[in-house]
Amino acid sequence: MPRYDYDLIAIGAGAGGFVSTKVAAGFGRKAAMIEKNKLGGECTNAGCVPSKALLKAASVAHHVKHLRDYGLEAGGGIVVSGRHAMTYARAAVKKVYDSHPASVFEKAGIDVLFGSPRFLDNHRVELNGKVLSSKKFMLCTGSSAALPPLEGLASVPYYTNENLFEIEELPASLLVLGAGPVGIEMAQAFSRLGVATTVVAKYDTILRHEDRELARMLADRLIAEGVRIVMEAKAVSAALGGTGVVLTVEQGGKRMDLTAAALLVAVGRKPNVEGLDLERAGVRWGPKGIIVDDYLRTTARNIYACGDVIGPYYFSHMTEYQAVTATRNAFLPFRKKINYRTVAWGTFTDPELAHAGMTEDEARAVHGDRVQVYRWSYGDTDRGRTDSTEQGLAKYIIGPDGRLLGAHILGERAADIIHEAQLLRHLDLPFSAVAQMIHIYPTYTDVVRQPATRY
Ligand SMILES: Cc1cc2nc3c(=O)[nH]c(=O)nc-3n(C[C@H](O)[C@H](O)[C@H](O)COP(=O)(O)OP(=O)(O)OC[C@H]3O[C@@H](n4cnc5c(N)ncnc54)[C@H](O)[C@@H]3O)c2cc1C
Repeated sequence: MPRYDYDLIAIGAGAGGFVSTKVAAGFGRKAAMIEKNKLGGECTNAGCVPSKALLKAASVAHHVKHLRDYGLEAGGGIVVSGRHAMTYARAAVKKVYDSHPASVFEKAGIDVLFGSPRFLDNHRVELNGKVLSSKKFMLCTGSSAALPPLEGLASVPYYTNENLFEIEELPASLLVLGAGPVGIEMAQAFSRLGVATTVVAKYDTILRHEDRELARMLADRLIAEGVRIVMEAKAVSAALGGTGVVLTVEQGGKRMDLTAAALLVAVGRKPNVEGLDLERAGVRWGPKGIIVDDYLRTTARNIYACGDVIGPYYFSHMTEYQAVTATRNAFLPFRKKINYRTVAWGTFTDPELAHAGMTEDEARAVHGDRVQVYRWSYGDTDRGRTDSTEQGLAKYIIGPDGRLLGAHILGERAADIIHEAQLLRHLDLPFSAVAQMIHIYPTYTDVVRQPATRY
């Protein structure tokens, strides 16, 4: 008789649960995944997938409205209404959701269980009145939208990413509280779909983790499209009023009221740690999530964690990377430290803003004047010229040894193109190495090849 029911139980069936149980099953281990809501977690159901689908619908609406820029005319005129664009986003969610049914995991030998487990000790959980035991656990319960301590917030209707994509008909106007990736992506999508949109940004920039110059360019683009951005503003209270919600914000010592039909709160994330009785398992956590060491092991020796519930990067691909590392460390004799040297992410606005490694400011703080910055404008690419996508800039931050410390691209397909820079960083090659490679003409990869040629 085996000592435990399972070798690994993953709690949470988002990217972290999917990947860790698949890796464990690949090692020949008996694995189960417990989910309290829907398979696929936030990314599939209320995050990456519906947001990218909505951005796609918004992009189509935008281009239809600008047919004339391409020498086109629509007979009889076209009136674009984005009112029902959410149905497209929900259809995309269904497609992705249907692509990973429980049966796929069960075929791989992974048990898929539903409910809210509670730890009894570090080897046992109680689930739906039954006790399940496991040699190891993976905690991957994700995160939820954090709510600001805002007077009156509880008394007004508001959206977070959890209910935003359930909207049947888009509101006439929207206030977006928060200028991080979720707030900025949704602001552009709603605005392009015909919603009068205002973003309340706490700092003097949007997307404060990005290269400042590129974030500024993106903000200018959004403003030119009609998004109102109220910078360096602190929301102090919310109330019902006008045709919807009144948000009172403080800016430069003065208060002003912003009114819209709807409010989206997108100010950050908080880890999902409640209801698990983690203390009984000896797992400690703090405001930023479950505490893990460099091997992604929690304060309980047999329990690992990955994804949004540990941070520090809140992305599906980072979750996957952590899940692979943590599961290997749980079962293989040679442990590997998590290494965030090649971290990268994208913000899927139009144009996209892609981020790999250090920004110029971060690099200069470490290496001072020994940092070199190479740039290339989309306006200096033939593909930009053929497609009218000249607005955009790539920046490469190069360290004293000729290697990329960071790459930051604002422009068409930036989140795809940046993988050339990512590969250089991953293989630890100098920036100049990419110049020798044959690149297809005419492509946006000119924004990598051209500066590398000159380096
Ligand atoms: C609007 C939005 C857009 C985003 N877009 C992108 C993007 O384009 N690219 C990208 O890389 N990332 C994006 N993200 C981030 C991405 O969604 C998360 O980083 C990713 O989902 C984290 O995966 P996870 O497995 O850690 O957690 P989740 O996907 O949140 O999965 C956790 C699962 O655990 C379950 N759970 C929670 N508590 C319990 C419990 N007590 N018992 C059982 N189950 C439980 C939850 O129901 C959930 O299914 C976006 C996020 C948002 C909000």
